[in-house]
Amino acid sequence: MSEDPRDWEVETRLVRGGLARSPYGEISEALFLTQSFAYESAGAADARFSGDEPGFIYQRFGNPTTQMFEDRLALLEGAEACRATASGMAAVHAALTGLLRAGDHLVAGRALFGSCRWIIAEWLPRFGVETTFVDATDLEAWRAAVRPNTKAFFIESPANPLLEVASVGAVAAIAHEAGARLVVDNVFATPIFQKPLVLGADIVVYSATKHIDGQGRVLGGAILGNAEFMQETYRDILRHTGPALSPFNSWVLLKGLETLELRVRRQTENAGKVADVVADHRKSLKTVYCGRADHPQAAVIAKQMTGGGNVLAFDLGSREAAWRFLDALQIVDISNNLGDAKSMATHPSTTTHRSLSEEDRLAIGLTEGWVRVSVGLEGPNDLIRDVSRALDAA
Ligand SMILES: *Cc1c(COP(=O)(O)O)cnc(C)c1O
Repeated sequence: MSEDPRDWEVETRLVRGGLARSPYGEISEALFLTQSFAYESAGAADARFSGDEPGFIYQRFGNPTTQMFEDRLALLEGAEACRATASGMAAVHAALTGLLRAGDHLVAGRALFGSCRWIIAEWLPRFGVETTFVDATDLEAWRAAVRPNTKAFFIESPANPLLEVASVGAVAAIAHEAGARLVVDNVFATPIFQKPLVLGADIVVYSATKHIDGQGRVLGGAILGNAEFMQETYRDILRHTGPALSPFNSWVLLKGLETLELRVRRQTENAGKVADVVADHRKSLKTVYCGRADHPQAAVIAKQMTGGGNVLAFDLGSREAAWRFLDALQIVDISNNLGDAKSMATHPSTTTHRSLSEEDRLAIGLTEGWVRVSVGLEGPNDLIRDVSRALDAA
């Protein structure tokens, strides 16, 4: 009997999942840098286009290297289907516009990555979709926001930048009672530490740019869910609007998946150590980290996440102090990315979240003293020394 990859451990899935070798028997996955595919005969082309025969047609629809990436990520997530996109934002955009049409209503957590917020607040209204933003941790607020035309719920959990955690299962239950679908942006938790589909979500989206690449090279994204639903909802929008992930980037991300578990676990160990040092430092007024018992939603985290992740945030009281901290760092880079092998720190209110109005920033608690750190793979003692010195300087 042949092995069923769904019975494999996570590490095996990441190294061998989706592997489709060419007749050459290459060990490292092949990079099929091809736009089109040749058919044996006119009849074979006809059969391919009609869907009677499986196979590739055009890179915008699918590619063997991209499919290996999709199959490996689906196997990791425990999803029936995965479609890769050129960036995380392409995934969020397609995930929402595939579900919604003019006259529909969306409910979304108010703490979101800046571009997610822009799509929902600025772009969807052009097409007649209205949104109610809620405090994602407040279940009553989700219930109260539901309207007869509510078709989708959207959350980021943990959310960027202050790591608010919503109960995925409880929000999913409210969505389903309302006849709506729940979309979860699972970037901060990573597929290693949280499985939204198992918790009740209908669709998961990733920016593969973050931990899945994890080495600062390429953009990528993915949408995952039930096969039939993905086919009905996303096949045509992805074919015809063109957010396809390039085969080269698919290959980079496929190789990134091989080491994802190792990297994320080490980053998380480092992040826990850094978070403890920051929390104990007199300059930090408040420290938020999903792996600490003093996280405001620690009880929810214990139920749905199996690790704290690699991002922490802390409040140094003022923009001046936050900037002094950043400018004093010698190892950690000042950068807005996250999930990278290199540690990075950013000042969200003047970078990733600067497009939010002051009122919206304050609603999510983002004052000017907050710093967000994505902890990388450097040695923990070097990171602790660097961060402690910068905190002293703040
Ligand atoms: C980075 C990020 C995105 C967008 O991903 P890109 O690959 O940069 O387009 C979406 N959601 C979250 C939570 C992110 O951190």
